[in-house]
Amino acid sequence: MDILQSPVAYVKGIGPARAKLLEQELGISKCQDLIHFFPSRYIDRTRYFKINQLQANDSEVQIIGVVTHLRSVKQKRGSRLVATFKDDTGQMELVWFQGAKWIQENIKLNIPYVIFGKTKYYNGFSMPHPEMELLDAHKSSLSTVMQPVYPSTEKLQNKNISHKTISKMVQNLMLTSGVSFAETLSNEIKDQLRFIDKAEAILNIHFPKSQDLLTKSRYRLKFEELFFIQLQLIRKNIINKQKIKGYPFEKVGDLFTTFYKNYLPFELTNAQKRVLKEVRKDLGSHAQMNRLLQGDVGSGKTIVALMAMLLAIDNGFQATLMAPTAILAKQHYDGISELVQDLPIRVSLLMGSTKAKARREIHEALENGQIHIIIGTHALLEDKVKFQNLGLAIIDEQHRFGVAQRAKLWKKNTLPPHILVMTATPIPRTLAMSLYGDLDVSVIDELPPGRKPVTTLHRFEGQRLKVFYFIKEEIAKGRQVYVVYPLIKESEAMDYKDLMDGYESIARDFPSPQYQISIVHGQMKPADKDYEMERFVKGETQIMVATTVIEVGVNVPNASLMIIESAERFGLSQLHQLRGRVGRGAEQSYCVLMSGYKLSSDSKTRLETMTSTNDGFEIAEVDLKLRGPGDIMGTQQSGVLNLRIADIVKDNQLLKVARDWAKKILEEDPNLELLKNAPINLAYRQLIQHKNIWNYIS
Ligand code: ADP
Ligand code: MG
Repeated sequence: MDILQSPVAYVKGIGPARAKLLEQELGISKCQDLIHFFPSRYIDRTRYFKINQLQANDSEVQIIGVVTHLRSVKQKRGSRLVATFKDDTGQMELVWFQGAKWIQENIKLNIPYVIFGKTKYYNGFSMPHPEMELLDAHKSSLSTVMQPVYPSTEKLQNKNISHKTISKMVQNLMLTSGVSFAETLSNEIKDQLRFIDKAEAILNIHFPKSQDLLTKSRYRLKFEELFFIQLQLIRKNIINKQKIKGYPFEKVGDLFTTFYKNYLPFELTNAQKRVLKEVRKDLGSHAQMNRLLQGDVGSGKTIVALMAMLLAIDNGFQATLMAPTAILAKQHYDGISELVQDLPIRVSLLMGSTKAKARREIHEALENGQIHIIIGTHALLEDKVKFQNLGLAIIDEQHRFGVAQRAKLWKKNTLPPHILVMTATPIPRTLAMSLYGDLDVSVIDELPPGRKPVTTLHRFEGQRLKVFYFIKEEIAKGRQVYVVYPLIKESEAMDYKDLMDGYESIARDFPSPQYQISIVHGQMKPADKDYEMERFVKGETQIMVATTVIEVGVNVPNASLMIIESAERFGLSQLHQLRGRVGRGAEQSYCVLMSGYKLSSDSKTRLETMTSTNDGFEIAEVDLKLRGPGDIMGTQQSGVLNLRIADIVKDNQLLKVARDWAKKILEEDPNLELLKNAPINLAYRQLIQHKNIWNYIS
């Protein structure tokens, strides 16, 4: 039996209780997982300090000596355990604030230990919670050169499973008789990239024999990790294209042509034309389209969506456009209805707030094919919503939807409809490759002509009067203004208070009837929200005070000024989205980021990035660096970024290499049947069998 496939509980030193903890805290259940649980760093354990060499600089040191006695010292709450530790040059204290009982019972007095940890200086040296190992055991352990430090959790530490313990577990597993690490890459790859063997890489990642071997091991293992992800994504994409049949939209019919010739209100940008071509090619093939359309705010994705929907209707199908908020759905509905008003098609709107009677009518008209385009929110996903013949589903601002919700759209016709997901949250290329490797990606990288870039300024609280004066000037020119407040779950009550306080202060400074103010936030009834929004859209109010509900998609070209309150509390992508609400008309637009004086270094970077660039992709790259891939919108749910060793940002070069290899191999050998690819095939099959995390649906 393959030892690596058995539960970790069988490894010496683990047992059922620890196995459970490892599973809960680190997701380690099989020996295979433990072997692939890599150290996050290494400590040079070649050097030993003497107590009289210690310096008060908080560094990690390793000392050999003996514990001469132990005592418990009462403190305000509970007590701490203090040990006197001596070597031939002096003495110091070891201190424990927790786990004293275990230490007291297990520590051996006057027998040499190797201790390791950070020293503190306060009336003499001490070391809190040292790592300790009997000198004899230390000598025989594998890890004396560079000691691996494994990521751990507080809970594990409280249960006395330190990284040292984990190292011991790994060591025990590696020493188990019969354990072997099969090669997972082909000789072709190994030769060309000069990789060391799998077994050697595994041994040296845990217990490096030298810095050089460690570097080589890391390099190989990172590649391997990225390579298998890419292999899965690309393979899935190929399989989708072969297996998932789609309805071919073969003709470019009357609606599309008439619209293009007579009703398109502007010339398409080259980027829009290119994307439309890509979409048409997909729709014309006999495979289901699964395409991601990325385009910065205001780049004109909607018109592309509409034209794709017209193609669907020309070919006898219905189309749907789903948006994450009611405001946005309504706006799409209004905009699209206007654009197609002279075409013989019926467009309807379905939302949570749609009244029962109207809803029934819509359901019926969808089923008998009278409605051609249905626009709406999550309400579209309900089982009751059935189509006569849905051919195309478009999802706007896709990161707002869960995977499961998107999957529901697949089931609305016999064959799955073509899917186009649109996002204005630019995803750095590196990330997109990993996250959406199974989707085809189109990018609108050009704004419609005549747009003036938004000027962005950072202002502090003390400059508020000037900012209010500026608002008055803009309104005097006939423009409209957004004032946005942060709203996050954790501090919701406080945030609402800030919003209302802010609203009142604006109402004082901008008195009616000269000024009219709208307010929109999440606690209002949908009908009230719509009413307020409507007034702003129609230009009846000059100021819109809101929380981030207006972040997504809202289009009021006459609004030329965006004030963002407590801007330091917003994330970069959110700031960028908000700023995208202005600069949609011909006028010069402004975005003012208001902040307090106290700023963290990350906040400073965010605000500086915003004032220095308007490029969504550049901003996304900074965001990725600041937050790491795990926090970028939409990545959490996919699990794709739970990488063990590679780093999407830092190993971006290697990611490309891995992707190219994966492509090359699959082109030559789509089912990995060639003898030379046998190791890859084996590893790949194990991976998809045991781990189901790459379960993307789009
Ligand atoms: P987004 O990509 O953010 O969804 P929209 O589709 O809402 O952008 O388009 C933003 C604005 O730009 C809309 O008012 C739209 O009518 C306009 N627009 C889109 N494409 C063009 C174009 N090629 N030329 C001029 N204006 C355009
Ligand atoms: Mg949009």
